[in-house]
Amino acid sequence: MKPFRTLLPVFLAILASCKESKPEAKQQIEAPTPSTPPLEKLAISGRHRAASTPALGPSQTNAFNTVVIDPGHGGNDEGTAWYHVKEKDTALAVALRLAKLLEANHIPCVLTRTTDTYISLDERVNIANRHPRSLLVSIHFNGSSDSSASGSSSYYFSKSPSGKFVAQVIQEALDKSHITPNRGINAQDYAVLVRTVGCAVLVECGFLSNKAEAAQFASPEGQQRIAEALLLGIMRAKPVIIIDPPETEIAKCEVYAKRLEEKEHQHRASVVSSKSAVTPNPLQK
Ligand SMILES: [Zn+2]
Repeated sequence: MKPFRTLLPVFLAILASCKESKPEAKQQIEAPTPSTPPLEKLAISGRHRAASTPALGPSQTNAFNTVVIDPGHGGNDEGTAWYHVKEKDTALAVALRLAKLLEANHIPCVLTRTTDTYISLDERVNIANRHPRSLLVSIHFNGSSDSSASGSSSYYFSKSPSGKFVAQVIQEALDKSHITPNRGINAQDYAVLVRTVGCAVLVECGFLSNKAEAAQFASPEGQQRIAEALLLGIMRAKPVIIIDPPETEIAKCEVYAKRLEEKEHQHRASVVSSKSAVTPNPLQK
């Protein structure tokens, strides 16, 4: 079966979900209310939650209700690996710690994987899209041939104001935790950000190619600090409306459709070149 035909139902499903989300999508992002407490005052354990978590008001009903935690890579896909530290392991360790912290704060969460197993991009996106009012946080670590490169950065879909807002808030929390230098936020149309119907961010927590950072992220203490910073960012973002305008969903569908078209084009080109490779050229005889 041709790739385009295989992927067409997925695209149509996304288009359908775009249409379904329109009534809600009229809601624009609102700036954090003045009552939102500063990051450092947000509790990170259930014990302190009642005293410091802002109460939900009527304007906050569209806030996400589930966090989909997506530890990058897994199984045969190790991600980047340096100094015997593998990205798939550090991402999973941070994700499991983040899940515990979210549970302690009564924020429902779902993990795309809980063990060292390979999960396809399709599966990750499908899990997120089963929770349309969710926030997807994809956890990754970086690698570079420049061993001095360091720091964390957060990514969002280029036309998603909600993604940009959450990326900003998470990056701010990472910055305030002083774990690694702040490399800021970037618009990047990664597939996981494009194909997730709800709000999605991808966090590169630091560089495993940097010896000091690799040692830090391989340690339970370093993993816990990253998880706590992510929790603070998520809790800061939660009371804020994060439904994107309809243009965002349309833009996601357009980017995805363009990629399917490119894949189909590449597939056709490869079929033509393989046929010409096996068919004897009469001119050579
Ligand atoms: Zn990665």
